[in-house]
Amino acid sequence: MVLYIMEDLLHATEVKIHTELCEHVRRHLRHPNAKTTQWHRANDLQQAREHARDIARNNKLSWREAKCCM
Ligand SMILES: [Zn+2]
Repeated sequence: MVLYIMEDLLHATEVKIHTELCEHVRRHLRHPNAKTTQWHRANDLQQAREHARDIARNNKLSWREAKCCM
C-alpha cells in the first residue's frame, strides 16, 4: 500500500505516517499547501517508517503512525 509521511515544515507537530486512503492525504492531494506541510510518498510501510524516522531525527521530532488511518 502507498503511504504518505507528513512533515510539518514549522516543526510544530510530530512526523506522521498516513495511508493513501486517508482523508488528510486526499485533501492534500486536491489542495497542496506546500507552505506548512510537505508530504513524502512511500511504497510500503517499511519504507515509510524508515523515511519518517529520518525526517524526525533530522528535525529532532518524534514520529508515529497516524491514528486516523493506521
Ligand atoms: Zn490519516
